[in-house]
Formats: sequence, C-alpha cells, structure tokens
Amino acid sequence: MMPIIIKCHSCGFTFYSDQQLKSVDEVLRQWGGYRCPPVCLSPLSKMPITMHVKG
Ligand SMILES: [Zn+2]
Repeated sequence: MMPIIIKCHSCGFTFYSDQQLKSVDEVLRQWGGYRCPPVCLSPLSKMPITMHVKG
C-alpha cells in the first residue's frame, strides 16, 4: 500500500495523509470546500499537491 498525501500549495498544510485512496474532491469537501483550513485560507485549485510516498 502506498500512502497518499494531499497538501496545500501555499502553506504546505496536510489535508489528508493515509493509505486509503480517496478522491481529492472528497477530502476537500470534508474541509469545507476548496479552501485551505485556518492555516492560510487561500482558495485551492482543484488539484492540491498529491504525493505518493513509499513505505
Ligand atoms: Zn494553506
């Protein structure tokens, strides 16, 4: 299993980091939409950084 990490472009806040594959849409909806939570509040593009990490 490869964990995936979804991060904010500007502040690097990690929205999601788990081994379960989720759609970016689903993750961002849990945070209230396409906006970085109280860290930098910048509107997010539809595609935040998504990384596949070994391990
Ligand atoms: Zn941010």
